[in-house]
Amino acid sequence: MSDVVRRSELVRTEGRNQDLTALERGIFVDGTVEPVAGETLTITNPATGETVGRATNADAAAVDRAVRSAHAAQGDWARRGYADRGAVLHAGAEALLEHVEELIGGLVAEQGKTVREARIELRKAADTLEHYAGLAKEVRAAYVHGLDPGVDGRVLRKPLGVVAAIVPWNFPTTLLSNKLGPALVCGNTVVAKPADTTPFTTLRLAEILTEAGLPPGVLNVVTGTGAEAGEALVTHPLTRKIAFTGSTPTGERVMALAAKGTKRVTLELGGSDPMIICDDADLKKAASAAAMGRFYNCGQACLAIKRVYVFESVADEVIEAIAGKARRLRLGLGTDENVQIGPMHTERQRAIMEDQIARTLSGGGAVVAGGGRPDDERLQHGWFHEPTVVVDPPHGSPMAREEVFGPALPIWRVKDFDQAIRLANDSPFGLGSSVWTASLDRAERAAAEIDTGYTWINSPTKVYDELPFGGVGGSGYGKEHGSEAFDYYTDQKSVVVKRAT
Ligand code: NAD
Repeated sequence: MSDVVRRSELVRTEGRNQDLTALERGIFVDGTVEPVAGETLTITNPATGETVGRATNADAAAVDRAVRSAHAAQGDWARRGYADRGAVLHAGAEALLEHVEELIGGLVAEQGKTVREARIELRKAADTLEHYAGLAKEVRAAYVHGLDPGVDGRVLRKPLGVVAAIVPWNFPTTLLSNKLGPALVCGNTVVAKPADTTPFTTLRLAEILTEAGLPPGVLNVVTGTGAEAGEALVTHPLTRKIAFTGSTPTGERVMALAAKGTKRVTLELGGSDPMIICDDADLKKAASAAAMGRFYNCGQACLAIKRVYVFESVADEVIEAIAGKARRLRLGLGTDENVQIGPMHTERQRAIMEDQIARTLSGGGAVVAGGGRPDDERLQHGWFHEPTVVVDPPHGSPMAREEVFGPALPIWRVKDFDQAIRLANDSPFGLGSSVWTASLDRAERAAAEIDTGYTWINSPTKVYDELPFGGVGGSGYGKEHGSEAFDYYTDQKSVVVKRAT
């Protein structure tokens, strides 16, 4: 049993175990977790402030080794064929499912989420890998017969080579599996970089997938900071594609760096998703979806509901329903199975959100739920914040214009649907949106007129592997999920054949 497994179990069963400082993990190259080396990152439990362990803070030389290993492994992996790669991915998905309970403790300890959220995340990560394992035999490209007399054309899909998969800390495993699925099925190899605060679950995930049959080098993991390991990965001459999920400013930086070498880039960036609740909606369900959509994962989701627009005539009822849910959420240590909302991920994230709320309220708006840090003595060592609801702040304020990455929801009263659509679109972001209404016309207008990559109609904001996912505007570009993702992990080459007769 590996060290990380034992530690994960300790975290799960004992919660505030003090002995976690012994957890030390280096980078994962050629199928092996190396000993911790060079500079290290100290990983802190967001709920308790305790040290979880130390990981290597990879420098450019370490990244170079990981990329070269992936490059060396790519030819053989690509030659194996789709069905074979799909079978390996299937075995990896099964192995991950078998290890879900083991991985929960580590994810809760390093990320701060609740046990329930960690379980859902890990199962979803396995599900996505399984989805792409199934799609492996379905990858298609075009064929045109008779372009000219005796001339046929066809399209070859070729893997890109080494893919750099860079992900943030909010869903370390699902965000990675979104990239691993299509990248690996298409014959690419991957060097993954988790956030510098969440290295351990990713390292263990890579070990599990490799034990299940992924050849050494096909998936390597470098742990480290964005400025050093991240940039070394993006600028490495042998990385051909950067699959990036993170904030909009970092995405812009990554895009600029990737220009040298004309690398492919997909950017899954920040969001400020609007929800419109009309007077003819099922108000109870809409309020539940708003609260769930906003406070899940302590509000730290790209697709969280970050703005609500509710028709004036039903506003009081909806606001009280959402605020009531916010007040009733059980805040606490993620290791407690009864807890519904854990801490924010870092002290810095909490400080950013508190500043956004303060700057917003200085211009107007009323706090109707939460508003500050909890008094509970047991929660003073972590980065907790009460689920907070603010009503009618100015629409030019930070809570409307910026991405609020934590448990705080602004709600605006609107007079009609036109105003709701206008305000929904009044944002630099374009990731997701949702509308609650009984009117087909309003639902279709929302789908057509809100500038986002996803629109949910009378539905919680669940993401489906079957549908392409990706934002517009400041939320980035390119698609993950769906068979559309294959276009972002392959080059399409046209081949023309002229027959002699
Ligand atoms: P971030 O941009 O700071 O970091 C994301 C990743 O990029 C980390 O691994 C980080 O180390 C790395 N990184 C940082 N600087 C880098 C650089 N110069 N070069 C290369 N890599 C670098 O993101 P964050 O603030 O930690 O994460 C939260 C953000 O991610 C939010 O904006 C959220 O909306 C977004 N997000 C988007 C999606 C999506 O699918 N659209 C999903 C989850 C999170």
